[in-house]
Amino acid sequence: MDKNAKIYVAGHRGMVGSAIVRQLQSRGYTNIVVRTSKELDLRRQDAVERFFAEEKPEYVFLAAAKVGGIIANNRHPADFMYDNMILEMNVIHAAYENGVKKLLFLGSSCIYPRLAPQPMPESCLLTSSLEQTNEAYALAKISGLKYCEYLNRQYGTDYISVMPTNLYGINDNYHPEHSHVLPALIRRFHEAKESGATEVVCWGTGSPKREFLYADDLADACVYLMENYSAEDLGNETVNLGSGKEITIKELSELVAKTIGYTGTIRWDAEKPDGTPRKLLDVSKLERLGWRYKTELSEGIRMAYDDFLHGESRAER
Ligand code: GDP
Repeated sequence: MDKNAKIYVAGHRGMVGSAIVRQLQSRGYTNIVVRTSKELDLRRQDAVERFFAEEKPEYVFLAAAKVGGIIANNRHPADFMYDNMILEMNVIHAAYENGVKKLLFLGSSCIYPRLAPQPMPESCLLTSSLEQTNEAYALAKISGLKYCEYLNRQYGTDYISVMPTNLYGINDNYHPEHSHVLPALIRRFHEAKESGATEVVCWGTGSPKREFLYADDLADACVYLMENYSAEDLGNETVNLGSGKEITIKELSELVAKTIGYTGTIRWDAEKPDGTPRKLLDVSKLERLGWRYKTELSEGIRMAYDDFLHGESRAER
């Protein structure tokens, strides 16, 4: 990518999109185009077509998505499918119609089967049933990555896709019910510490295992792949993006409690869903391509907690 190339980052207000913008800026890219969802509703095909025809971006990072944790996904499957499917199709198709040189599509590790072999290689996609709690989201993401592959195959485009593990970091969503586990725990333990509560309730049994990647590490990997690899180099197949390390939710809750300084007890509410038992990505392809994560979980949680505290003070102003 030329440093003056016009690069559209879709979803720049979100955790992933904002990290990609920071990463591009730090690498000296000067011509980054963004739109808020108010300015451009990516679910409107005509608006997306007009935007691409007017702006003619050369590169696209597709980080816009409707995202949420296990409860949000489980309760609103229709919304998760519709919003994600339609915005992906609109953006990827408009990119193709307007000659975008290269596009990077961000998926999620939940695209892999519920009982996939662990760690999960890219090749286990579509080999058995999905996890029920986020099937709708997964189907939309599988469609997006397949659409990129089909365009490459049929029209010779260069659209790559990456499948990140569970992400966390700056600009995360700290909604008490709808967020993912890590931001939810940061908020809950912080509030317990502030109020002097002696017990915090977490969801499920605490026994599922998850892998986490700091959003700025993810952004670094995305820009690295855009700069160095084409879809052809990647065998026209997606690339897993993760740390390759997993931790139980129980261990995670203890780590978050320690970072925040909460010293009370932790109780588990087994009425809430556990979701898939494990989802560790096989990152050997990524490592072969020359990339490895940088931020350890304990350090990342500290930085995320700092950002959460700044967010709180921003909201109070
Ligand atoms: P998942 O990775 O798609 O299952 O999504 P989540 O990040 O929402 O949940 C990961 C795991 O953390 C699940 O086993 C949840 O039951 C567990 N968990 C424990 N406490 C919480 C919480 O407060 N919020 C969320 N979202 N998950 C929690």
